[in-house]
Amino acid sequence: MENQFLIVGQGIAGSLLAYDMYKAGLQFKIVSSPDESMASDLATRRYNPAIFDKLAKNWNVDELLPVMTNLYKDIEKELGQQFLYPIDFTQPLSDKEIKVWNERIFDGDFSDYMESADTSWIKRGIDNFNLFDRVGKSGYLDLAKLLAELKSFFREKGHLLEANFKYQDIGFINGHITWRGVIAKTIVFCEGHHATKNPYFKSIPFVPTKGELIEIECEELAEEYIIDENMFVMPMGNSHFKVGATYDYSKQNGKSVIDSKADLLERLNQLLRLPYKILNHWSGIRPAVSDRRPVLGCHPDNQHIAVFNGLGTKGVILAPYFAREMMYSLVNRNYILDKEIDIRRFLNASIEVPV
Ligand SMILES: Cc1cc2nc3c(=O)[nH]c(=O)nc-3n(C[C@H](O)[C@H](O)[C@H](O)COP(=O)(O)OP(=O)(O)OC[C@H]3O[C@@H](n4cnc5c(N)ncnc54)[C@H](O)[C@@H]3O)c2cc1C
Repeated sequence: MENQFLIVGQGIAGSLLAYDMYKAGLQFKIVSSPDESMASDLATRRYNPAIFDKLAKNWNVDELLPVMTNLYKDIEKELGQQFLYPIDFTQPLSDKEIKVWNERIFDGDFSDYMESADTSWIKRGIDNFNLFDRVGKSGYLDLAKLLAELKSFFREKGHLLEANFKYQDIGFINGHITWRGVIAKTIVFCEGHHATKNPYFKSIPFVPTKGELIEIECEELAEEYIIDENMFVMPMGNSHFKVGATYDYSKQNGKSVIDSKADLLERLNQLLRLPYKILNHWSGIRPAVSDRRPVLGCHPDNQHIAVFNGLGTKGVILAPYFAREMMYSLVNRNYILDKEIDIRRFLNASIEVPV
């Protein structure tokens, strides 16, 4: 049977788009590479409605958060497993910053997210700060587990193609895309940072950003919240914590895992006054775009080629909302994507695309 869509990439972008298509009863295949690295496979990922350093809400969080929660809850129900773990964030703030937070709670704009902290126990082991505040409706997603389970789900339902995708294998015949015997109306590239090699979307200004994480064991540290102070310390149960992350805009190779570790440990040692043991260390590459917004839509010169990328540092909260937008725009070609995320903001006439 002819497919409407061929999705390339089974990170969070490709997987959630595929899930939305499955729910909508669309015909699709998803190509999952056994070899290519992905940003989404580093186990757990945080989501947080507020940016502490700017004392502001994250971009579009009032719209993104409900869609995010509903989608992950729906997948949990469908697959019978838990992936989303709500847990508060907290950060040491100065007297002046606390005053600003309090004013914002009163003006109503933040009251959905902010909670005051009980500072008496929060300081255990973190003794060089004196005031904390707390943000709710935050937590983490067990992304590695979610992707592994969705992969099995799509395999079982006959949607999964396990292969490395090569651009030279694409054919364009009579308004259709062909690839290794698969025929589809539209191909949707969800390749994460690998998209820098995509010949159809050369003018998207990707800024792949390498990041590193460590896992520590710290028996005395409280596990009731995620600390966000120039880095995050996230409880994973059994006195294990994820600590990260670093941002390296110069390196694009996910293999080295030693460069930023010293920096991470230095920051951790400034925060934590408790003994800990390092258990693990990972690195990955975030698929960021120069204006730090997702990028999606069909190529204006060839409606059979589309992209969904640019999730950058916030794949957990961005992917559910924008996977849905991506699907709407694929199904209804008159659907208008927000200018801020529409691929058209980057494309110019110099791109050569087969028609
Ligand atoms: C260290 C670190 C910490 C992070 N922390 C957080 C966090 O706390 N919260 C948060 O929300 N986000 C976080 N992120 C960002 C988040 O991981 C990304 O936004 C998200 O994973 C991007 O998903 P993606 O699907 O766009 O790309 P990817 O996860 O990179 O997936 C791309 C997919 O395309 C496939 N692919 C590429 N080329 C081919 C090919 N030729 N053939 C077949 N398949 C191909 C890959 O195999 C992969 O499956 C972090 C990232 C890093 C590196």
